[in-house]
Amino acid sequence: MADLETPQAVPCSERKLGVHEHFMRVAMREAELAETAGEVPTGCVIVERPEDGTLTADARIIGRGHNETEGRGNPTSHAEMLAIAEACAARGDFRLTDTVLYVTKEPCAMCAGAIVLARIPVVVYGVSDPHRGGQSVFGILDSEALIHRAEIIGGVCGDECRVRLQAFFRARRRQGQE
Ligand SMILES: [Zn+2]
Repeated sequence: MADLETPQAVPCSERKLGVHEHFMRVAMREAELAETAGEVPTGCVIVERPEDGTLTADARIIGRGHNETEGRGNPTSHAEMLAIAEACAARGDFRLTDTVLYVTKEPCAMCAGAIVLARIPVVVYGVSDPHRGGQSVFGILDSEALIHRAEIIGGVCGDECRVRLQAFFRARRRQGQE
């Protein structure tokens, strides 16, 4: 994880960046819950985007999740998958066409695939994963071969998300050596 990179945040207005940081911090609190449970610390929230597209900090969170692969004994229990399931249940619809997904680390191939199937239009992530990322490596989120393409905003609170992951893996390596 030493080579996780933080891409340049896409330029946007101060206000918009502020909103993205606000919800990324909520996703980071989810990542903390994962870490407390001994899971890889990734967290995700899905937020409703009003019809006019103007997202504010008052927007409703309809899905939350943090990595629970160990606890549930299930390799699909990634933060994004759990948040998508919760949001779909809240909606009674698998199409999340007016939402924004925030996740502390770039989605893997599985989660990027689920994001496309759920038609989530905007994906905001913290730190990118140049070795396993569903976008960096496979280009899934904006692939022309698929039914839906998402707008991608990377690097929001990227340094903080990277530091948390690196500290987690460093500690785990240390424990492995003891
Ligand atoms: Zn994943």
